[in-house]
Amino acid sequence: MSILDTNIEFLKGVGPKRSLLLNQELKIFSFFDLLNFFPFRYVDRSKFYSIRQITVFDVEIQVIGLVKNMQIIGVGKKKRLVVNFVDKTGLISLIFFRRITWIQKNIKIGGRYLIFGRPNKYHDSISFVHPEMELITSSTTNISYSLYPVYHSSEKLNNVGLNSKGLSKLIISLLKEVKQVIYENLSKDIIFKYNFIDRYYAFQNVHFPASPQLLNESTSRLKYEELFFLQIALLKQKIIKKKKSKSFVFTKVGPKFNDFYNKHLNFELTTAQKRVMKEIRFDFATGFQMNRLLQGDVGSGKTIIAIMSILLAHDNGFQSCLMAPTDILSNQHFNSILEFADDINIRIALLTGKIKAQEKKKILFDLKNNNIDLVIGTHALIQDDVFFNNLGLVIIDEQHKFGVSQRAKLWSSSNIVPHVLVMTATPIPRTLAMTAYGDLDVSVIDELPPNRKDIVTYHKFDSELETIYQFLYQELKKDKQVYIVFPLIEESKVLDYKNLLTGYEQIKDRFSDLGFNISIMHGRLKKEDKELEMAKFLNHETHIMVATTVIEVGVNVPNATIMVIQNAEKFGLSQLHQLRGRVGRGSDKSFCFLITSHKLTSDAKVRLKAMVESSDGFKIAEIDLKLRGPGDILGTRQSGLVNLKISNLVNDHDVLYRAREDAKNLLKKDSELVSPANLAIKKFFIKYHAKLLKWGSVA
Ligand code: ADP
Ligand code: MG
Repeated sequence: MSILDTNIEFLKGVGPKRSLLLNQELKIFSFFDLLNFFPFRYVDRSKFYSIRQITVFDVEIQVIGLVKNMQIIGVGKKKRLVVNFVDKTGLISLIFFRRITWIQKNIKIGGRYLIFGRPNKYHDSISFVHPEMELITSSTTNISYSLYPVYHSSEKLNNVGLNSKGLSKLIISLLKEVKQVIYENLSKDIIFKYNFIDRYYAFQNVHFPASPQLLNESTSRLKYEELFFLQIALLKQKIIKKKKSKSFVFTKVGPKFNDFYNKHLNFELTTAQKRVMKEIRFDFATGFQMNRLLQGDVGSGKTIIAIMSILLAHDNGFQSCLMAPTDILSNQHFNSILEFADDINIRIALLTGKIKAQEKKKILFDLKNNNIDLVIGTHALIQDDVFFNNLGLVIIDEQHKFGVSQRAKLWSSSNIVPHVLVMTATPIPRTLAMTAYGDLDVSVIDELPPNRKDIVTYHKFDSELETIYQFLYQELKKDKQVYIVFPLIEESKVLDYKNLLTGYEQIKDRFSDLGFNISIMHGRLKKEDKELEMAKFLNHETHIMVATTVIEVGVNVPNATIMVIQNAEKFGLSQLHQLRGRVGRGSDKSFCFLITSHKLTSDAKVRLKAMVESSDGFKIAEIDLKLRGPGDILGTRQSGLVNLKISNLVNDHDVLYRAREDAKNLLKKDSELVSPANLAIKKFFIKYHAKLLKWGSVA
């Protein structure tokens, strides 16, 4: 055991009480954890202000002066200690609400102090609330660091003296304790290649930079380290999986595939689609399980890829299943495949939670007895009573809605595992995909089928609704159809529901006299009613679809060319992009109106701007990543995979690429890390990263 594994309780100045809070508030349990708890920013403390110079109030500054006197005023919650603080140019007050007795006892009247904090202004007087204070004594030779670390803390930690300053004191003593045990964890080659600084020196300078230059060198090294070991872990996992999971070989291109290709595929595949098909067919031939993530923007033509893959599986004698997150989507897939299923003679079934018991029994029987070639459905497919005869291919549409362990349920009983293709229209930025899905191969459809028109997107305010209605009227007269979406984030919220109904009434008042029919669609409708409304809209019996986000994914009505989104500020970026993707599915020019109030948060402004300026799902995903962070996007916050301490997947993708390339090359030459040159890497990896390998596999 290394000193680094010592429980944080035993660091000088911590003890049981603070230790518990460090565990709870910052997930710091050991010396190692604290060492890797990095400042989130630095303050330039080379500059000092005199009291008269204080004119800016939103930044932290430092002032040198004398404590003149102090007194406690107020009672109860308003009780506070007010310290009068002076220099030659004026007087300010320092105000303390907590730990008053302690502070009062420790502040020296007449003492010369350096104070640090954010000034407030009230009328003409300036105050600091709970500033940091440092007594300047004759032994204080150097009263300032040029770059001073700022650490995240919390109210509770503050109350036990562990504000940023308190934490930095702990780290100072920690750095002394561990000086002898911070070993090199990279190979000589890598250190030489990047000219990395000493590891201990890097920790020291990232916490207490001796200069901006050293801070830079330290962060570069520590970021690289973090991403390098993460990639080693992911790549090793991939190697292990490849070794383990034998799968079926589908090399035959048979009659089903050919029939479909020749008779039912009435368009030329895009270059991107062809490339992806090649990648999949390559996987099918290896004898090992395909684990492929297929990313492609809405409308890029992923479904065709799914169908062709299914037909290849069938030509090689295997069943497939196609899972979708909702009933509507399952139905839609089912219906579109039904169109040609008879003709090319494949037997398909739909299995959702809504299927009646009797029918379900038959489907389960048929699946088990190989009377069904392809089953399409929702979560119902991963229940315990579903058994396949010879499942060869699993396709999952919109993967983010299925959990990791849920997927594995599909084939938990088989020795040889089926191939897996996961499709998503929520493009994950490449940096994130590489990291979070390092063990999946990623295919990308990065072009839309030809003749697609751009969707022109406008941001409008509520006050402009009238002009938009007039525009709608013009388009409706040209036989176009319109979606109007209201936010209904949780279907149970009565308030939102009212919004939708009020909106519906208004739109009806406005348009039904003009001869247009209106459908309404939301999660509270019965399945039959939803389908009926959808069918009416699809058949052009209704002209306007007033809806909630239930229409978000997959719904396909090419004649609908206008998407109006009410309260657009309430939607997330990827959701807006998904909704917009409901139009622009035919060859006619399409429009999207994002309607908001005038009150917009700065994040909302960024989202709206992104939507207006770009229709590229990948670009939008990058912006979304910046706004929300990777954890929220992948829903894998708890996995630890994207729980990075110092690097950042958005800003550090250069480092990520380099680390990944280096890790790949290293493992190519020395997959078990047995070479003496890689001993340092191996030791560190086993100690801190090997546990990641046990973390459930992604697909
Ligand atoms: P996605 O599932 O990626 O959102 P779809 O597979 O539903 O997209 O395809 C959207 C529409 O584009 C469908 O109507 C489909 O038939 C059509 N399509 C797909 N690929 C092509 C292509 N290469 N050329 C023309 N149309 C295509
Ligand atoms: Mg789709």
